[in-house]
Amino acid sequence: MKWSFKIGSILGIPVKVHLTFVLLLILIYFAGPVIVGVGGVSGVIFVLLVFASVVFHELSHAMVARHYGIGVQDITLLPIGGVARMAKQPERPSQEVAIAVAGPIASIVLAISFWFAAELFGSQVTVLDFSVKRDWLAQLAAVNLVLALFNLLPAFPMDGGRVLRGLLGLTMTPYRATRIAVGVGQVLAIVLFFVGLILPNFFMILIALFVYLGAETEEQQMGIMMALGGATAGTAMIRNVQSLSPDKLVGDAAELFCHGFQSDFPVMEGRRLIGLVTRDTITESLHKRGPSVPVQEIMARDFPTVVEDTPLVEVLEKIEASGYKVLPVLSGGELMGLVTLEQIWRYNMLCSGYSCEFMQPARRNASEIRPA
Ligand SMILES: [Zn+2]
Repeated sequence: MKWSFKIGSILGIPVKVHLTFVLLLILIYFAGPVIVGVGGVSGVIFVLLVFASVVFHELSHAMVARHYGIGVQDITLLPIGGVARMAKQPERPSQEVAIAVAGPIASIVLAISFWFAAELFGSQVTVLDFSVKRDWLAQLAAVNLVLALFNLLPAFPMDGGRVLRGLLGLTMTPYRATRIAVGVGQVLAIVLFFVGLILPNFFMILIALFVYLGAETEEQQMGIMMALGGATAGTAMIRNVQSLSPDKLVGDAAELFCHGFQSDFPVMEGRRLIGLVTRDTITESLHKRGPSVPVQEIMARDFPTVVEDTPLVEVLEKIEASGYKVLPVLSGGELMGLVTLEQIWRYNMLCSGYSCEFMQPARRNASEIRPA
């Protein structure tokens, strides 16, 4: 995620913090007494404890995912909560249910633990008394309870939405299950929006918008997954690729970028792929260092690749997980083409609801890779 930086790792999973979260800490430090009733150092410590609870919630998702062989890229903390990025979708609906339900269970366990601790240390409050501002333990118990209940709302991108889709998926196709779960989520978001307007509660309106858009994204993604079906990287890749030799300059890459359709360029030493220059690196190094830097100084050397037979669904997941917008397609170690998000989108536009079998990957040699 843009504007987030790593603060450490837990159980081998990088934990990142989004810049807006740091802004939240600064805001609480100075304006905390007005907003949440506690400010300064105590306010900041309280917010940090709340987010430690969120990390615990996300780690529970991650551990169950790992149990099913699904890697977790990282956990990012945002002011609205946490996000654990999975390397791929769970294969079976039952796995999706187990991964989704782990987070709220963890939050409930935390809530009960904090509640017991609050009782032990002589607190007079109960978890249901949200108005008590002074007792941290009771407040943390309340926050974790709210976190669990809020996440159990049956609406994407909340955990409850995933539980609902997983349960529906046990008896119907994934696409239909997603459609129904998305519908339930959006109706709930609309109800939440109007309740927020009537109360009025700004936070509730914000959550309603967040849920509505999240549900829509989920449906679009599912639509793409369905349309991609059995298609492979070989069917959708750009075959007519312009490549660069390592001694070409950033200026050459910028010209190719500007005057052609291609935005990202493989760097070839003879027939060997040794690097990748993306549109972002071209723009950045042109602006910072000028046009006469050799591409071998700015190219990425360590980047993911796919083979021609890699299913497009997997390509899409790899693009999302790696943050690279372009992946080289190899065959027997040799470059065959490039596959990009836009290329997948084009394939989807052409072949959604239509059989594109005539576009099977042709076995060609790598002669369509043209050096610049
Ligand atoms: Zn969760």
